[in-house]
Amino acid sequence: MASDVDDCLFCKIVRGEIPAAIVYQDDYVIAFDDITPQAPVHTLIIPRTHYADMNDDIPAESLAALYSAVPRVAQVKGIAESGYRTIVNTGPDANQTVLHLHVHVIGGRSLAHGMVIFGGE
Ligand code: AMP
Ligand code: ZN
Repeated sequence: MASDVDDCLFCKIVRGEIPAAIVYQDDYVIAFDDITPQAPVHTLIIPRTHYADMNDDIPAESLAALYSAVPRVAQVKGIAESGYRTIVNTGPDANQTVLHLHVHVIGGRSLAHGMVIFGGE
């Protein structure tokens, strides 16, 4: 029977089984542009190791690696000075759609000060 990791979309990107526009990578993380960008810059940073979400008992060193990549990605994408927002969706109320932990890095234009829009349900 296939495991979560076999079926996981982002694990397939880590394994090179599906293409991605990679903007940064190191021993711990890969960053690639979101396929449906919600701003001029919208890049995802994922750990190479599969964790479903923030509740998945993630070692502190893995979280450190994930967040250490944020300013590096911002530099590569040219938004370090102009600014950016980082978002981690977790679970149904946050509308997490891919169950492999990821940090959204969003910028490239001025974002609304309000960070929360309620959904329909
Ligand atoms: P979330 O809703 O927080 O789980 O975010 C998942 C993100 O993954 C969405 O913004 C999608 O547009 C993005 N996404 C889904 N499939 C791909 C893919 N193959 N390559 C890049 N981004 C993707
Ligand atoms: Zn995965």
